[in-house]
Formats: sequence, C-alpha cells, structure tokens
Amino acid sequence: MGDVRVRFAPSPTGYLHVGGARTALYNWLFARHHGGKFLLRIEDTDVKRSTPEMTDNILKSLEWLGLTWDEELVYQSQRLEIYREVAKELVNKGLAYYCYTPEGESECIEVAPEEAEGKKVAIKFRVPKSERIEFTDLIRGHIVFEGKDIKDFVIMKSDGYPTYQLAVVVDDHSMGITHVIRGEDHIPNTPKQILIYRAMGWELPQFAHLPMILGPDKKKLSKRHGAVSVLEYRRQGYLSEALFNFLALLGWSPGEDREIVPKDEMISLFDIKKVGKRAAVFDMQKLNWINSVYIRMKTDDELLELLRPFFSEVGVTDDEAIRKLIPLYKERARTLRDFVELSRYFFEDVTEYDEKGVKKHFKRPLEVASRLETCLSELEKLENWTAQDIEGVVRGVAESLDVSAAKLIHPIRLSITGMTFGPGLFELMEALGKETVLNRLRRAIEWLKMRGAQDTPE
Ligand code: GLU
Repeated sequence: MGDVRVRFAPSPTGYLHVGGARTALYNWLFARHHGGKFLLRIEDTDVKRSTPEMTDNILKSLEWLGLTWDEELVYQSQRLEIYREVAKELVNKGLAYYCYTPEGESECIEVAPEEAEGKKVAIKFRVPKSERIEFTDLIRGHIVFEGKDIKDFVIMKSDGYPTYQLAVVVDDHSMGITHVIRGEDHIPNTPKQILIYRAMGWELPQFAHLPMILGPDKKKLSKRHGAVSVLEYRRQGYLSEALFNFLALLGWSPGEDREIVPKDEMISLFDIKKVGKRAAVFDMQKLNWINSVYIRMKTDDELLELLRPFFSEVGVTDDEAIRKLIPLYKERARTLRDFVELSRYFFEDVTEYDEKGVKKHFKRPLEVASRLETCLSELEKLENWTAQDIEGVVRGVAESLDVSAAKLIHPIRLSITGMTFGPGLFELMEALGKETVLNRLRRAIEWLKMRGAQDTPE
C-alpha cells in the first residue's frame, strides 16, 4: 500500500472513553502495520462544549495506552480561516448558498450573496438531488445513498464556525489522509462528506467504519456499564498493555482464538479487512482475565513500580512492605488495586470476621477456641518464624489433636485476616510476622469464647 496516513479526530467534549480509544487504536495499528503515519487532530470547533481539560484527558489517555502520534497535533480551532475560504469557494461555485433565519422563525431561507452582507448568515451545502453517492467501505462493503434522500446541510454556522461535515473534509484533505477509520455511527455522514470532496474536486480517502461496542446487556456501551473513560481504568488498576490488548480484540481477532497478543505481533497481524461487521460486546470479565495475565507476566520489580501509587493512596509508602506482598497476591490479583484490597489486614487491624466464614469455620466456638489455643501455645514457642516451620507446627498440632489440618487452617486464616480466602496460609503467617499473628489469634480465641458463652444454654 502507498503511504498510509490515518488520523484520530476526537472532539474534546468528553473524556476519552473505550469506544474512542478503540478507534484510535485501530488507526494506530493500521498505520504501524503499513509503516504509515498516525495523526491526531483535536476537533474543537464546538466552542461551547470543548474544554482544554478534555483535550488534556484525551492526550494523557493516548499516551498511557502507548498510542503515540506522528507529526504535529492539529487543532481545528486554529484553522477557522481555511474553512471559511473553502465555504466561500463553494458558494462562489454555486454549490453552497447563504441562508438566513429571520427572527422568530425556525426555517433557514436562502439569500443571495449580495443580500447576505451584514446579516448573520449560515452557509448550506446544496445537495445535488439526482446524484447517487456510493462508496466501498473496507469493513462494510458497498454502500449506496441517493442524493434525493439527503437534505441540504449546514457547512458554516452563522457564528463563523464550520460544522463537523465541512471541517473534517477540509482537514482530511489537507492532512493527506488516505484512510478514514471511525465508528459506524458516522456512516450517515459519509455521503455528505463525499459530496464536499466532489464539489472541491479532491481525491477521496478510503473509508472503514468500525462496529459498535455494546454492553453485556447488548445496549450501546455507556456509563451505565461502569467505568468507560480510559484513565478511569488506569485508576482502577488496569495495566495499559492489558487494556490495549483487550480493546484490540473488540471487533478484530488475530485468529486461532488467540486472546493474549503482544503489541508487536498485533501490529504485524492487524488487518482492517478482518474487522467484523457485528457489534462487539464489552466483557468486563474478559478484561479482568487479560489484566490478571499481564500482571503475572510482570516481574516483581515492575509490579513494585506500578503498585506504589495504589499503596500510597492508603498511606503505605514503604517499598519493603509492598515488595513482601507481591509474591503473595500476584497469582490472584485481577487488578493492581486488588493487591491493596486483598492485603488490607497487613495495614489494618482485624476487627471483624467474614460472616459466611464465621458460620462455616467458627461454628462450634468453644471447640474452635480450644484448638486455636493449642496452636497458639505451640506457635509461641516457635523461634524460627518461617512458612516451613509454621507449617510443621500447625500440622503437628492437627495430628496431636487428631483433626484434619483444614480444621486448623481455615479458623486460623479467619482469625488473622478476617477473610476466608487469600494466599497460602503459612507464607501469609510468615509475612504478617509472629507478633501480629499471635495477637490476632488471642483476640479470636477471646471472641470465640464469648460467642460460645452466649450460645450455651444455661
Ligand atoms: N470528531 C469526530 C468524532 O469525535 C470525528 C469523526 C471522524 O473521525 O470523522 O466523532
């Protein structure tokens, strides 16, 4: 393919969300695959709704995802003169006309150029009613529109700002865009834009309209489905590589049912023609799974870097403390935030026990208390506080009491973490430290005895 030039053209009227990010990503993959250029254009001509904060959010999101752009960033708000020139040219050619909405009316009426002077006029494109507009979409195939079905449309608003339809064509042309890859909600805009290309005698780009993204309820993905902005995923502890991988699979597949595909391979395998027509369903569980796979692929040092901000939010800034936790939770964390959630009892005292856990593992409180007391007194004597030696003690106690090790392991876990699940108990006990473990066991024994006294009928 010749020199491929594609662009991502977000409007800074909202955060960059999953749908926009997927569009950016497919453009980026397409450009990198063909050794072409990926350009970025901020479509900020809707002055009322565009804000610099949103532009900032979009740029940060793209950077975080590694969607680096080539050449200089283009802002439409800096190109207003150019759109005005083109609009004027179309009027001069008779292909567009001034129109004016008299006070109190809603209908915009055509006015001759000499009457336009001094009035607040808009410019409308005159759609040739007898023309047929057709194009071959790289994803959706042949698409036909009839001119008679398209109303004349505004290209320049009366406030002097261009509409999206005009600005997008002018810029795609002047930026030398070869392929327009965007969401399928833009299909109805395409014939209008093609008419402007024709009117200006400009070469058409190729079009590729990406399928929609739906929530699990098969409705259009929206805030109702949870976090949708890219930086919110970062905040929730998703890795950029994982979100990248996940987004790439929303509508495209590298084949062979592969789900974990490194970036380099994505670039070499990506084929816009293989993007499906059917809407893609956003599956949070799949994202969680992909994220957990990427977490496991990280080294402990890399994870330490990534985890620091999450732990510092809860006031934990000690690298050594965090480092100790990594091997304990790496296998079960779905997100970086999970490391913090799952290890709470390292930084907070245990004051409550999981309700279901109580029903299951603290069922006969006095019996459990007495078993734990035996453990406690053996553990008190243990000098070498290592997982291996702790395990020896616990299993020894189980044997001497003639109960299964599980009858001790579950109540100990509940006592020292308040939870019913977590990392291997003996490693966990080593990491928590002797003093903490013994204190929590003592407290649990007390709690059990009280509970036992209440439960026992007089
Ligand atoms: N600013 C438009 C949008 O955000 C760009 C559409 C296009 O790519 O042509 O939807």
